Amino acid sequence: QAKAAGRRTFIRYDDAMDVSIRQRATTAGALRKVIDRGELHLVYQPRLALATSRITGVEALLRWTSLEHGEIPPSVFIPLAEESGLILEIGEWVLREACLTLQRWRQHGLADLSIAVNMSVLQLLRGNFPDVVRRVLADTGIPPSALELELTESVLMANAVQTANKLQAFREIGVSLAIDDFGTGYSSLAYLKRLPITTIKIDKEFIGDLSRDPDDAAITSTVITMAHSLGLNVVAEGVETEAQFDFLRAKGCDEVQGFWVSAPRDAHECMSFIQHWGRARTVAVGAPP
Ligand code: C2E
Ligand code: MG
Ligand code: MG
Ligand code: MG
Repeated sequence: QAKAAGRRTFIRYDDAMDVSIRQRATTAGALRKVIDRGELHLVYQPRLALATSRITGVEALLRWTSLEHGEIPPSVFIPLAEESGLILEIGEWVLREACLTLQRWRQHGLADLSIAVNMSVLQLLRGNFPDVVRRVLADTGIPPSALELELTESVLMANAVQTANKLQAFREIGVSLAIDDFGTGYSSLAYLKRLPITTIKIDKEFIGDLSRDPDDAAITSTVITMAHSLGLNVVAEGVETEAQFDFLRAKGCDEVQGFWVSAPRDAHECMSFIQHWGRARTVAVGAPP
């Protein structure tokens, strides 16, 4: 009896495992075709400079609308794309698409805008990504200073020795480098100093709790002070309320990104938003047109 029950349990477990693996494989296999089928697209989220109240740039964020499965969040498909190695191909597509969009916007009068693109650890460690970046910039005519590559803090910490060297290649091209989701990985000040980075993006976990959690407020203002003492630009992500916005402005944060300014928008909508922002300076933050 016990043995039979045990076997049933085992079989059920085995089946469940099989299904889950097959699902992952199917999804990863489906990933292979997504670019060709046009299932990937980018949305763009503005970044606002607090000193000038101007939109200085946007972050490109990847979206996958699968014909079979519908909208699949990046938190699900980016890890799959990394497992299968397809992130290299997808990442190159993202970079090129983002730069082409910026080039179009620049031709429509948004000359000083910059673009931030998220980079996977695989792109940093395995690919010849510096060459890809150089080629895409040359093809699209985007100056290196208008491109910022974002890497999460956890990635930088997990590969500390390798990354410091690899990052230098991007700085030599002249692109900016940001640490994304900063505050979650316990980077030391000494470690940050060794990295050739230009920008710190404070993780939205901290920003979300600013008014409720005094620790998060203390951490945020300390990070701003520390980053400035290292000559780094500070961006707060996930800014959703006026209170968060006012706090960050009072603490001297350089830029904010979040729903309070604008949710990510598709390319055309985002361009209109930024053009409107530039024309009507009186538009209140938090009440986008
Ligand atoms: P991230 O780079 O930290 O991007 C910020 C995330 O916060 C985005 O989620 C954005 O939609 C969301 N967000 C923006 N404003 C707010 C706000 O006010 N409140 C809240 N709660 N969230 C806000 P998304 O688009 O789902 O992307 C999730 C993550 O997936 C990104 O985090 C990034 O790490 C990764 N990702 C996105 N696109 C790419 C890509 O092209 N390549 C790679 N390698 N990773 C990407
Ligand atoms: Mg990012
Ligand atoms: Mg982030
Ligand atoms: Mg986070």
